[in-house]
Amino acid sequence: KSKETGWNFDNSYARLPKSLFSSINPTPVRSPKLIILNQQLANSLGLNVQALQSEDGIAVLAGNQIPKDAFPLAQAYAGHQFGHFNMLGDGRAVLLGEQVPPKGERIDIQLKGSGRTPYSRGGDGRAALGPMLREYIISEAMHALGIPTTRSLAVVKTGESVIRETELPGAILTRVAASHLRVGTFQYVAKWGTVEELRILADYTLKRHFPDVEPDESRYLSLLKEVIKRQAELIARWQLVGFIHGVMNTDNMTISGETIDYGPCAFMDAYDPATVFSSIDIQGRYAYGNQPNIGGWNLARFAESLLPLLHDYQEEAVELAREAISSYPALYNLNWLTGMRAKLGIFNEEQQDQSLIEDLLSMMNKYRVDYTNTFRALTFDTTGDNTLFGTDEFKQWDELWQARLGRQEESKASSHQLMRNSNPALIPRNHRVEEALEAAVGQGDYSVMERLLDVLSNPYAHSNVQAEYTTLTESTTPYRTFCG
Ligand code: AMP
Ligand code: MG
Ligand code: MG
Repeated sequence: KSKETGWNFDNSYARLPKSLFSSINPTPVRSPKLIILNQQLANSLGLNVQALQSEDGIAVLAGNQIPKDAFPLAQAYAGHQFGHFNMLGDGRAVLLGEQVPPKGERIDIQLKGSGRTPYSRGGDGRAALGPMLREYIISEAMHALGIPTTRSLAVVKTGESVIRETELPGAILTRVAASHLRVGTFQYVAKWGTVEELRILADYTLKRHFPDVEPDESRYLSLLKEVIKRQAELIARWQLVGFIHGVMNTDNMTISGETIDYGPCAFMDAYDPATVFSSIDIQGRYAYGNQPNIGGWNLARFAESLLPLLHDYQEEAVELAREAISSYPALYNLNWLTGMRAKLGIFNEEQQDQSLIEDLLSMMNKYRVDYTNTFRALTFDTTGDNTLFGTDEFKQWDELWQARLGRQEESKASSHQLMRNSNPALIPRNHRVEEALEAAVGQGDYSVMERLLDVLSNPYAHSNVQAEYTTLTESTTPYRTFCG
């Protein structure tokens, strides 16, 4: 049966030291029903869409059947949650293993919402349909935006209820990731494991994600630097599209540089660095404007957890780690600046570019204009009802910008093309996502979600069908998100 579906499992993680995981099967569910399947992703993983939709195919996605050579396990990890260090681990997920596709890299297949594990603490190990569909929509939108992310292969309804504030339909999401290695995985081993275990984990990580790093004694410092590089790129990309992760705890930061854990995340509408959507982020620790700094803070925790390995060959290990960490802000800023120049159609570099960009952003903040739509309007030179564009302040800025564009060799047309490719037509607007979830969970009507997924799948198309998805709501109540 596995053969027909195309599953080709290995689980290299299961060959790591036993303290890193607990072997555990998913808890079977009553009556699984496939709600959505990512056909393109399935194909790229070497899976057969028809077989996945069969009873046996769905049984695997529900955790009721274990495919051949899978080795289900819950991963152990720790993490700083809102600054506080805790033991965590997969409390409601199991890693089936790694799918080894005919072409390309091995890739983690995880069932989220698959039942209790030794790390569940008080939790029920389950997930509700709404939040799993929300993760599906937003992670796939992020992928389409060109941002590294875990992906969503399928959502299966379990036929069982989960109890939250109310009784909700239960579901399981099949999450696909380069790996589920987190900063928190290293923190866990650094805190409770041996140096030898830490070395095994680091070597495993290098082999899996950074095969180009020379396997010499400086490899652990290289590991640190590579992760800093990937996170600097990733977080800059979040900022450029207005994505707010919402819960940047160290257990929710991957080593691969992919976005992970779509809980209370949401996209910013009006530009404001203080924007927070998560109902539990009272202090605004994970506000839009704080994300780059929090990234640096988390990376410092990663560096700390690597210190025992760095010490092994370098007396000045702490100094080297500190140096690597202190390179992060500039690295982040360079990524961000490059991306912002592109959003404004700028190809070459000038000293004053940063202040030109910052002036635009502070006007956007002052007039509370929509982040995505303002860049779109600049791209297509339309003013619409944007309250910023009528102001003298903006007109002065616009002159500076036009002059700036004049100081590069590229034509107006190539500038416009660069802007088209750098400014999405649309993002998953909060009210659109809610509308899709309401129809899906409330009415069992999945067509609204499917249509939304379709328009989100090509955000740089700037097509007519996308236009109606670019409008904002009149809603006066602030949007709130919850940890699903
Ligand atoms: P998160 O806030 O999504 O990063 O989750 C933090 C921790 O809580 C992780 O260890 C999760 O596995 C665990 N967790 C979240 N929801 C549940 C649940 N319903 N049952 C058991 N553990 C959970
Ligand atoms: Mg998490
Ligand atoms: Mg979560």
